[in-house]
Amino acid sequence: MKDAKIRLFVDAPLGAGQAVAVGEAQANYLFNVMRLSRGAQVLLFNGQSGEWRAEVAEAGKRSGILICAAQTAPQIMPPDLWLLFAPIKKARTDFIVEKAVEMGAARICPVQTQHTNADRIRPEKLTAHAMEAAEQCGATFVPPVDDLRPLDKVLATWPEGRLLFWADEAMAGQNLPITGPKGAPSALLIGPEGGFSDAEKSRLRALPYIRPMSLGPRILRADTAAVAALTLWQAQMGDWA
Ligand code: SAH
Repeated sequence: MKDAKIRLFVDAPLGAGQAVAVGEAQANYLFNVMRLSRGAQVLLFNGQSGEWRAEVAEAGKRSGILICAAQTAPQIMPPDLWLLFAPIKKARTDFIVEKAVEMGAARICPVQTQHTNADRIRPEKLTAHAMEAAEQCGATFVPPVDDLRPLDKVLATWPEGRLLFWADEAMAGQNLPITGPKGAPSALLIGPEGGFSDAEKSRLRALPYIRPMSLGPRILRADTAAVAALTLWQAQMGDWA
């Protein structure tokens, strides 16, 4: 059996003997860029059915067919953790999405705050980044990336029972351990480069489900802060704990 190294997310059912049609972009990647031909092996996942080894049955220039052989990994969902963050410059926003997938966030929620210096994002592009990150890191799940929503709207419809861990730069340097039951529905909130406005801070402080969080004695850039917050939560309450 040849090594099956390439992992692909596909939006198709997977199961023993199941044929999976690949579209133009994936066909280009598999058959032109990676030069796979009939009989080559790849790994597939669809976010629901675990990971499957599949064999190339047809390799065309713009399309192809893969046939699933056997399951190689079970479906594993990440803990119920959302990452709320204020989008920053494009390359750093891409970085945050990629790291959120590697770190095991279940949902990625870009939020617009008063000092957010981005008024639109491209959710479909960010979703493509999320898929690539999942393909690369061995995850069997791709977290959905929401469209940009104002923070106050997100808070207005906050689901009951979900804790909101707020990376609050005013808490920098304080010893504020993260506490909560393992796996409890949670979200992390990371602010923009300009931090949160006074109005936002007082609103956040008054929420019953808010848990202010410190990320150490130094002020981190938003992209670093996202990774640090994900790490703390995963180690304390998530699938590292
Ligand atoms: N310009 C702001 C800092 C923004 S840093 C100021 O000087 O106050 C970007 C975001 O990262 C912050 O909004 C916060 O959510 C998070 N952050 C950075 N360092 C942090 C720390 N030490 N503790 C808690 N949150 C932090």
